[in-house]
Amino acid sequence: AQQRYASIRETPCVTLDGTRVELMMNAGLMADLPSLVSSGAEGVGLFRTELQFLTRNKVPKRGELASLYARVLDAAGDKPVVFRTLDIGSDKVLPYMKATEEPNPALGWRAIRVGLDKTGVMRMQLQALLRATNGRPLHVMFPFIAQMEEFLEARAHVTKELHREQSLGHSLPSSLRIGAMLETPSMAFAPRRFFEEADFISIGGNDLKQFFFAADRENERVRRRYDTLNVSYLSLIEKIVDRCAETGTQLSFCGEDAGRPVEALCFAAMGLRCLSMRPASIGPVKHILLRANLPEVREVIAVARESGEQSVRPAVMDYLRSR
Ligand code: PEP
Ligand code: MG
Repeated sequence: AQQRYASIRETPCVTLDGTRVELMMNAGLMADLPSLVSSGAEGVGLFRTELQFLTRNKVPKRGELASLYARVLDAAGDKPVVFRTLDIGSDKVLPYMKATEEPNPALGWRAIRVGLDKTGVMRMQLQALLRATNGRPLHVMFPFIAQMEEFLEARAHVTKELHREQSLGHSLPSSLRIGAMLETPSMAFAPRRFFEEADFISIGGNDLKQFFFAADRENERVRRRYDTLNVSYLSLIEKIVDRCAETGTQLSFCGEDAGRPVEALCFAAMGLRCLSMRPASIGPVKHILLRANLPEVREVIAVARESGEQSVRPAVMDYLRSR
């Protein structure tokens, strides 16, 4: 499949109406990095850091993590890498963390909630990231932020670790950008200050959709029940796009839906300018975007939303077939 899109690999993703859409890739292993070249991704929009924790029987050492993160940055060269801090709990359980039985793990003690309650591991991870960066830019993103305060608290840990590194005489990142994943509907309605304070925001559509429709992403019986192009969900996406536009906050989308060409097209039409996806999706998504007229798609979506349909998908598919 990569082969099929090789001819557009180096082509910048610009739609027919001249809109630049940045296409990044998701990764989680050192072995994913060669895909940066083979897929033509412009960077790593989401580096999931769970695997190094999940594949061991104890917490990895700071030095180990720092050297792995450094190798990731080396492999990425000039392309940016957005590291997401540990997102455990729910579907990703650490074998060595005492399993706390929770009736609803997806709604439970997970991700940033663990990080802020038991700060040791998160601080160690931040130190590893700062050391790995060694004079290069650093992008850190916190998962599963459900209210502004969690982001501010998490960010304060970065600042503290930064000062600590400085006082130890270690070299600091050349620049530091601290962002949040938007994975709960609550954050679309967060105080304006959240959007002002976050250096960037990335929509985690896998979780956002599961919480918006109250449909477990792990449950085969319900997980495909609600269309991503459902008008209710698109209204939520539109809200987030608007909130970020008000404050000039950089926004991306990094859930699986970003890698589905029709969804990606609709997101771009709704104002998303950065999509992060599995490497194999970059070719197909770029292919549809290079031939897209976003104002036309925006109009098709607007008409379908007005018409009382549940999903804009049939209208968008009709439009694509008619071109
Ligand atoms: C998401 O929730 O969309 C996401 C990108 O994170 P994860 O799939 O790792 O929960
Ligand atoms: Mg998530």
